[in-house]
Amino acid sequence: MDINNNESAQLLVDGFGRRITYLRISLTDRCNLRCVYCMPEDGVQLLSHSEMLSYEEILKFVNVLAGYGVNKIRITGGEPLVRKGIVNFIEKLNNIGGIKDIAMTTNGILLDKYAQDLYNAGLKRINISLDSLDNEIFSKLTRGGNLDSVLKGIDIAKAVGFKPIKINTVLMRGDNDKELLNFIDFAIKNELNLRFIEYMPIGQNISQAITSKELIDKIKIEYKDFELKKTDDCSVSKEYYFSAQKNNKAVIGFISPLSEHFCNDCNRLRITASGKLRLCLFYDEEYDIKEILNSSASDEDIYKYLLDILQKKRQTHSFNNKNNKNEADNLHNGNIATDGNIYMNKIGG
Ligand code: SAM
Ligand code: SF4
Repeated sequence: MDINNNESAQLLVDGFGRRITYLRISLTDRCNLRCVYCMPEDGVQLLSHSEMLSYEEILKFVNVLAGYGVNKIRITGGEPLVRKGIVNFIEKLNNIGGIKDIAMTTNGILLDKYAQDLYNAGLKRINISLDSLDNEIFSKLTRGGNLDSVLKGIDIAKAVGFKPIKINTVLMRGDNDKELLNFIDFAIKNELNLRFIEYMPIGQNISQAITSKELIDKIKIEYKDFELKKTDDCSVSKEYYFSAQKNNKAVIGFISPLSEHFCNDCNRLRITASGKLRLCLFYDEEYDIKEILNSSASDEDIYKYLLDILQKKRQTHSFNNKNNKNEADNLHNGNIATDGNIYMNKIGG
């Protein structure tokens, strides 16, 4: 079905008239790092092989959604590159009619090994998470990660032809916030699209959160020509550039899920590695899709099942810096780890 040319096409629309076109898929709960804000130090109780959605199940799900207007996919995790068969999976995903854009968020550790094959398989956009440019701080924040592997991964991804390459950086007060201007230098030198994502202290230390506004004000002290780019793009990132420097191709984006949420334009759904549909990053309500995918339900039945769930998508989340730990816990009370905290590796970011 060509959704674009068929006005009577059935689409996925929630109770507030928001059309779902974007699916974020958490491929695995496993990871080769243990970032302090994402995973507990001792790791997490991992899903067994049979509890995880198989590649076949995911492909079937995407196939159905593509028939109802979903055209953009992001692969995330855990760390997607630790799941075996990833290249083959991307190739199959890329062959699904209607899917126009496949992107991946990775920690970059294994990118030198996989970049070329992923590119050949059809992945063209990649986001690499990088929270420090200092060996020691990087190792501390990732609990043992090697910064050089990520830097090598970025270089290879550039050489292979990924465009754009976006670097995702989370700054936390007292941990890595002093590196703000080093990151700006790094982006300028390497002509990168760098995005600062507000730290989401879900059940963790809220005083470490820094708003995008605070970062922008600090950068403006150093770079007087740091200006907001005018764009029609309804992206969740507000992009800035250096207006007086014609040769400076760096773009600095700010994603502010806490201080300036973008719920009004929310067009996304998430599935977890265990096959749970999540309507919002900030609410723990999950709906099983594994069972219906393995039943004799037709595409139309699956669509109706999803449409029904979609009507429960809330208009907005109310989690922000002013809220306290209790609020966060109330939103996430199903995913609290044994240490009492909630971690993003379960949700996929
Ligand atoms: N392993 C991959 C990676 O690190 O890029 C993909 C999964 S990771 C959960 C996806 C994104 O979530 C990363 O960019 C990471 O920085 C971000 N993230 C994890 N926990 C976060 C938190 N508490 N606040 C803000 N971002 C977070
Ligand atoms: Fe792993 Fe990504 Fe979470 Fe870090 S942010 S622990 S790399 S899943």
